Amino acid sequence: MRKTVTVSTSQIFCILIRSSATCIRANTGRWTGAGKPAQDNAMPHDHHDDNPHRLLPSEPALRVKALETILVEKGLIDPAALDAIIDLYERDIGPQIGAGLVARAWNDPEFRAALLTDADRVITELGHGGRQGEHVVVVENTPDTHNLVVCTLCSCYPWPLLGIPPGWYKSDSYRARAVREPRAVLAEFGVTLAEGTTARVWDSTAEIRYLVLPMRPEGTEGLDEAALASLVTRDSMIGAGLPRSAGTAA
Ligand code: FE
Repeated sequence: MRKTVTVSTSQIFCILIRSSATCIRANTGRWTGAGKPAQDNAMPHDHHDDNPHRLLPSEPALRVKALETILVEKGLIDPAALDAIIDLYERDIGPQIGAGLVARAWNDPEFRAALLTDADRVITELGHGGRQGEHVVVVENTPDTHNLVVCTLCSCYPWPLLGIPPGWYKSDSYRARAVREPRAVLAEFGVTLAEGTTARVWDSTAEIRYLVLPMRPEGTEGLDEAALASLVTRDSMIGAGLPRSAGTAA
């Protein structure tokens, strides 16, 4: 019997934007779990891309192109609209937005309290809401607790605050091991927790996305928000990293 699969327009956009941006950035690597990924765009067959005699684009790029071609031919998507959305995530939406929130929270206790209590309201008021970021919960790192975010099911992620998720975030290895052995995973990212610090793992879903509010680095008392924001890395807002040290502020 033939089965019909119904896919909504938003799902199609989600797949294409995620896949297209991924391919544009060559950001499709799988983290094997053996050490911190050297770079987000590491790919298992990277050496093929260096081959000057290579005739075809990478397999993921071909798959995305095939999917896009079919959807355009069927009139289900407009390539111009797709390009506009990808451009938005390439240029305007990225970790700098989340970093701005973190820096302000470090400098403004009232803002920090509001962010931790009702992030949705704060983010919406600042105009940072939107697709893949409808319900955001901010969790704060403390000397007692280090938060780590994962999506065990797929790759749910607060796009409006952090942009497109890194390849390793979507890898089978990270999704499985972040829950099973978070301390080991953190160590591979270069984050070694003190014995008394609890690692708390948050499993993102289609309904709730998490943003980690990292601890403010020591020695940053005199810095303004722009300088503070320059210390906030994407990984530190996932919990897989720490902010840069004070001496590296822009
Ligand atoms: Fe997911």
